[in-house]
Amino acid sequence: MRGAVLYGPRDLRFEVRDMPTIIKPTDAIVRNSATCVCGSDLWPYRGIQPVAQPTPMGHEYCGIVEDVGSAVTSVKPGQFVIGSFFASDNKCPNCHVGYQSSCQNRELVNTAQAPLLRVPLADGTLVATPNVPSDDMVPSLLTLSDVMGTGWFAAHAANVKPGNTVVVVGDGAVGLLGMLSASQMGAERIIAMSRHDSRQKLAREFGATDIVTERGDEGVDRIKELTNGVGADSVLECVGTQESMMQAIRATRKGGHVGYVGVPHGVELNGEELFFAHVHLHGGPAPVRHFLPELIDLVWKGKINPGKVFDLTLPLDQVAEGYRAMDERRAIKTLLRP
Ligand SMILES: [Zn+2]
Ligand SMILES: [Zn+2]
Repeated sequence: MRGAVLYGPRDLRFEVRDMPTIIKPTDAIVRNSATCVCGSDLWPYRGIQPVAQPTPMGHEYCGIVEDVGSAVTSVKPGQFVIGSFFASDNKCPNCHVGYQSSCQNRELVNTAQAPLLRVPLADGTLVATPNVPSDDMVPSLLTLSDVMGTGWFAAHAANVKPGNTVVVVGDGAVGLLGMLSASQMGAERIIAMSRHDSRQKLAREFGATDIVTERGDEGVDRIKELTNGVGADSVLECVGTQESMMQAIRATRKGGHVGYVGVPHGVELNGEELFFAHVHLHGGPAPVRHFLPELIDLVWKGKINPGKVFDLTLPLDQVAEGYRAMDERRAIKTLLRP
C-alpha cells in the first residue's frame, strides 16, 4: 500500500509502505474510511520539529475493522470504529480517572495517513458506532479522533458551564471546535480571538458571539473591555505559543479557568505572575478516548456537526497538496479519502 511519509521540511511523499499486520494479540487492523492532516503535523512539516529519518505520518482515523488479534473482544471485523491518537489499555489507574492519553501503557498511533492502520490495545482504544454510518457522517466522526475531542477537552478543562463567558484563543480547527464545544455546553457568550475572515465566519457558525482581532496585551485589553474589566470565566488556549498562553491567562477572571490544549512550543511561565493571576490551569494531551462515547452519541443524533471544519477534501494520494494548503493557510483542515 501507499501512505504519507515525511522526509524533511516541506518534503512529504506518498509512497510505498509496508502493509500493517497484527503484531500483538491485542492489535486491530482498521481500513480507514477517512483520515486527515492535523495542525500539529505542520510542526515537523515546517521543520520546527526536525525528523531524523523518513517518518510515516497521521494520527486521526476512523474506519472499518479489517482484522483483530486473538485477545481482542470488544470490536470485531466489519464494525465502524474511531480511536484516539494515543492507544490506551483503558484499565490502568490513569485511564480509570479519565486520562487515557496518560495511560501507563499508552502507544502513539502515528501512521494513519494510509489506507490501512494497525491500532495497538484495540479493546481499550477503539469505540464502535451503533452501525456503519452513512458517508456524509464520516467527516464529523473523524473529528472525534482528535480535533473535536481536543476542543471538547479544552472546554471541559476550562470548566465551561451554562451562562459562562468564554474566550477562545486560536482560530485553527481545534479552536473552532472549542467554540462548538463551549456552545454545546451552554456558554452564553463566546469570544473568538481571530484575525482571518474565513475562520470568523465558521466561528460564528459554531457559536461565537463576539470576535476580537487584536492579539497579545491589546487582545487582553479588548477582552477586559468586553467583560466590564473582569475577564472571562473560561478561556480555551488552542495555539501553544508564549503569546497565546499569556493571552489566555491574562484574559481569565480571578477564580476562572484556563483549558490549554495547544502543544507548547517554547512556553515558559513566570511563577510570580502565575501566583497573582489566581486562575485554574488545566490541560495537556486530550484524553479523547474518555469522551468518545458521549461525542459519538452527539454526532449520531445530529446534535453537532464538527465535520464542517474540513474545508478541503482530497483523495489520499494528494496528501502532499493537503499539507501545502494548510501550510499556506489556504485550508483550515484537509480531509483525505483513501
Ligand atoms: Zn491531530
Ligand atoms: Zn491505561
